[in-house]
Amino acid sequence: MPSGMRLKTPSLTSLQRESFVLRMVAGVIVVSLLVGLMVVVVLVQSYRLHQEQAVVTAENLSWVLEQNITGSVNLINQAHLAVSDEATRQLAAGGIDFASFNAFILRQDARLTNADGVHATNAAGQTLYGTRVSPTSNVVGRDYFNRLRDDPNAGLVMSKPLVGRISGKWAVVFARRLNHPDGGFAGVVFSSVNLESFAKLFSAINVGPHGVVSLFDGDATLLARYPDSSGPGGGVGKKINSPKLLERLGSNELLSTYRVHSGVDGIDRIFSNRKVTGHPLYVAVGLAQEDILAGWWTDALTLIGVWGLFTLLLSVVAVLLVKGWRHRLAALKTMEENAELEAKVADRTRDLEESNRKLSALSATDGLTGIANRRRFDETYAHEWNRAVRTGQPLALVLFDVDLFKNYNDHYGHLKGDDCLRKVAQLLNGHARRSGDLVARYGGEEFAFMAPAMDSSSILALTETIRKALEALEMPHDMSPLGRVTVSAGIAVRVPVIGDAPDLLVTLADQALYQAKRDGRNRSVLAEETPVRVEVTAD
Ligand code: GH3
Ligand code: MG
Ligand code: MG
Repeated sequence: MPSGMRLKTPSLTSLQRESFVLRMVAGVIVVSLLVGLMVVVVLVQSYRLHQEQAVVTAENLSWVLEQNITGSVNLINQAHLAVSDEATRQLAAGGIDFASFNAFILRQDARLTNADGVHATNAAGQTLYGTRVSPTSNVVGRDYFNRLRDDPNAGLVMSKPLVGRISGKWAVVFARRLNHPDGGFAGVVFSSVNLESFAKLFSAINVGPHGVVSLFDGDATLLARYPDSSGPGGGVGKKINSPKLLERLGSNELLSTYRVHSGVDGIDRIFSNRKVTGHPLYVAVGLAQEDILAGWWTDALTLIGVWGLFTLLLSVVAVLLVKGWRHRLAALKTMEENAELEAKVADRTRDLEESNRKLSALSATDGLTGIANRRRFDETYAHEWNRAVRTGQPLALVLFDVDLFKNYNDHYGHLKGDDCLRKVAQLLNGHARRSGDLVARYGGEEFAFMAPAMDSSSILALTETIRKALEALEMPHDMSPLGRVTVSAGIAVRVPVIGDAPDLLVTLADQALYQAKRDGRNRSVLAEETPVRVEVTAD
C-alpha cells in the first residue's frame, strides 16, 4: 500500500484519555451532589414541617388542658362565691345559723366533684363548717388565710402546694373571703384539690414516649407532672430552676413556646406553656425532639439510602462506560498499530522490489559495455523462440566476432581492448531500432544481435550495414591485415517449429561465423540451412 493511502485511524493523546475518565468522575460527582442537594432540601423542609407540626400539637394540647383546668377552678370559684354570698346574707340577717349554713355548704360540697370538700372558718380561723370538721382545727397562719384576712379584694386565692394532714398527699387549697355586710372579715371558705387529679388528667393526653405535661404556679413551683418525676430536682412542690421557665413566668403572655434541654432527664423538648386564665397557674406541654423527629429520621435514612443506591448505580454505569471506552481505545490502537505495520511491510516490499529490480538490471547488464549480458540474452532468446513457435514468425540471430582481437590486445593492451569492445557494442546497439531487437555481449569479443520477425535478406542487409559501419569507423588495428578493427558475422534465420532444438539458431549462426572466419574475416555469412525467403509480417 502506498504511504499516502495509509489507513487513517483516530488517534487520542493520553491527555484526552485522562480527560475522558476525569469527565466521567466529575459527572458522577456532580449528578450525585445535585441529587444529594435535593435530598438535603427535602429533608430540611421535612424537618421544619415536623417542628412546626410539633409546635401546633403542643399548643393545641396545652389549650385543651388549660380549658379543662379553668373549668375545674371556675366550678370551685362558683361554689365558694355561693358560700360567700350565703354567709354575708345570714350575717346581715343577724348572724350565721350553724345548721342552715352548714347544710348549704354540704350541698355545695356534694356538687363539687373535683375538690376534696368545701369548708368554712370563722374570723378566728377555726374550721367550723363542712365535712369532717372540728373547732380545734384552724387555718390561722396559712398563707391563703392571712392574705384573705388582710385583703378584702383578693378574690379566689390559691395556696402554695402542701401535703394534706389527713391524706398525706400533695394538694393546693383554693379559698375565698367571707365578709360581714359592712365588708369586715368574717372568715374564709376553702377547698383542697388533690394535685394527683391533675397528673391523672395529664396522663390521658398522648404526648409521646418522651413527652411531658406539667403544671406550675406563678413561682415556678411544680404542682403536677406527667409522667411523675419525683426524685432529685423534679418532684411536686419543688421550684423548677429553669431560666426559660422563669423568663416565661415573668412575662404577661398567655402563651409562650420555647425549646428546652431538660436538666432533669437530659431530653430536648419543645414546650407550649399556657397561662390558666384568671389564675396563677401555668400548664406546659413538652414534646420530645426524639419523638417529633422519629418519623423524620425514618424518612431521612430512607432518602439517604436511596441516594446512596443511586450514586452506586451511577458509579457502576460510569465504570462500565469507561471500560467500554477503554476497549474501543484498545481496538483503535490495535488498528493503528496494524496500519503502521502494514505500511512498514509495504515500504519494505517496495524497497525490496526496487532492490530486486536494480539487482536484476545489474544481473542482466554487461559490466564492461553496458549492453545486455549473456544471461539476459539466453532468457530473451528462449522467450522469443517460444513466441516465434506460437506466432509462426521468423527469428533472426547474428553472432558478431571481432577479428584477430587477441592480437589487438597484445598490441594495444587490455584497456584499449576494452575501449574497443565498448565502441563495437555501442555501434551494434545503435542499430537495434525495432521493438524486440536485442544486442547482447555473448562472451569475450563476441556479440549477438537478435531480431524477431525479420527475414533473411533483411537481416543480411542489416548485418552488412553494421559491418560496414564499423569498417567506416577506421579504428586502427595494426596487427590486422586490413589495418582496422573489423568483425565477422554468422547469420541464422528460421521459423521455429515444435521439435526444433531450442539452440538451433545459435548453432547455425555459430557455424556461419566460423565459415566467415574461414572465408577471410570481415564478412557476413548466412547459414546454409536458413531459408533464403520467408514470409514476414510487417512490424
Ligand atoms: P579470430 O579472428 O579468429 O577471432 O581471432 P581472435 O584473436 O579474435 O580469436 P580468439 O578467440 O583466439 O581471441 C579472443 C581474444 O579476445 C582473447 C582475449 O584476449 C580477448 N578478449 C576476450 N575478452 C576480452 C575482454 O573482455 N577484454 C579484452 N581487452 N580482451 C578480451
Ligand atoms: Mg572469438
Ligand atoms: Mg575474434
